[in-house]
Amino acid sequence: MAKGERTSGYFNEKRETMSQDERRNHLNGKLRAIVKYAYKHSSTTREKLDSLQVKPEEMDTIDDLQRLPITTKPDLVEMQKSTPPFGGFEGVPIEKMRRIYVLPGLIYEPGEWEYKDTRWAEALYACGFRTGDIAQNTFNYQMWPFAFMLDDSLKMLGCTTIPAGAGNTQMQVQIMHHLGVTGYVGTPSFLMSIAERAEGMGFDLKRDFSLDIGFVGAEMLPESLRERLEKSFGMTIRQCYGTVDVGCLGYECIEKEGMHIPDDVIVEIVDPETGRSLPLGATGEIVATNFNLTFPMIRYGTGDLSFQSEEPCPCGRTSTRLMKILGRTDQVTKVRGMFIHPWQTDGLMAKYPEVDKYQVVVTRSGYLDEMTFRIELVDESIDKALLKGRLERDIQDTLNLKGEVEFVNRGVIFDKHQKIKDERKWE
Ligand SMILES: [Zn+2]
Repeated sequence: MAKGERTSGYFNEKRETMSQDERRNHLNGKLRAIVKYAYKHSSTTREKLDSLQVKPEEMDTIDDLQRLPITTKPDLVEMQKSTPPFGGFEGVPIEKMRRIYVLPGLIYEPGEWEYKDTRWAEALYACGFRTGDIAQNTFNYQMWPFAFMLDDSLKMLGCTTIPAGAGNTQMQVQIMHHLGVTGYVGTPSFLMSIAERAEGMGFDLKRDFSLDIGFVGAEMLPESLRERLEKSFGMTIRQCYGTVDVGCLGYECIEKEGMHIPDDVIVEIVDPETGRSLPLGATGEIVATNFNLTFPMIRYGTGDLSFQSEEPCPCGRTSTRLMKILGRTDQVTKVRGMFIHPWQTDGLMAKYPEVDKYQVVVTRSGYLDEMTFRIELVDESIDKALLKGRLERDIQDTLNLKGEVEFVNRGVIFDKHQKIKDERKWE
């Protein structure tokens, strides 16, 4: 396919423009079906519902999900130890599994006989993949499921895939050049390695390659890296978000205004402490329920933090979007009942060029939490009282919490990666 000719395609775009009510009905129907199915076929789901005295037919709408606890990766590991090999989560017997994937830590994941999940295909389509594209899939095809999921999804769109796998940078450059690859699939950092190697081999990235689109994931995509790659290849790069346990949970469209949640998955944002679903705009943990009959996951906690928006996207898709992945739940600290996360304090401090390093220390005085911002200055001779006043007002406005500013000597903050230090004692 020549550059700029991205029009027709397999994918039925109608479903991506459902109204919020239609979407809710669609998901409620899917939820009822998967709970009923999982109750019948997955021993762990059945035991969980029975222990909570919840009947599958009582799980009628998305709101009812809050009656169920969140399953985390450590739970999955624990369950696989006590009920090997799949922890009783599997929805089919082993002879109905096409593959058994192996994740780090020897976690076993059953793969569907026929891959029918359209979420990654939806994401690839939004990135620009169409019938006729030649895709170089550089995700790892060994043991890990992600490359296979994308491989099948590219087939759904009518693309031709090179199962390149990871590594072999020089060969990847030659393949990309010889076969006129139009779409890259992989991590952004590996595409950067390919670009550097190709230039080292004397190639001109625009003239000698046909790369038009790139679908990247599995790591953070700094905007500077995106711009550099887009410019040097003359291509468009879009990112996706998901996990191998629950599949695709979000993807960027051409507008890059957050990540659209695909049609066939329920994504909740929950308070990581209570498991309660949070309203639109509030920050919390991304929790997903998929409709995978082979490995159903009901309320799986990803450990990632984000917030959602239902603002219409200029691309025309009406789905709710995950606006940004803000970090991990294990980095969250609760102070006087409010969640404080390093991305908030980083954002706050970034506005002050006077600040060289900072660390938030949370202590306890009587029964109250106290928060102190320790700060090392770039220039010690500035008006400290003035800066202290500005900072303390800004902390109150931004975090809705009182924080005291304390200037410390250079070298006191030795671990700059530990932005929030919890020194509370609970005896
Ligand atoms: Zn959009």
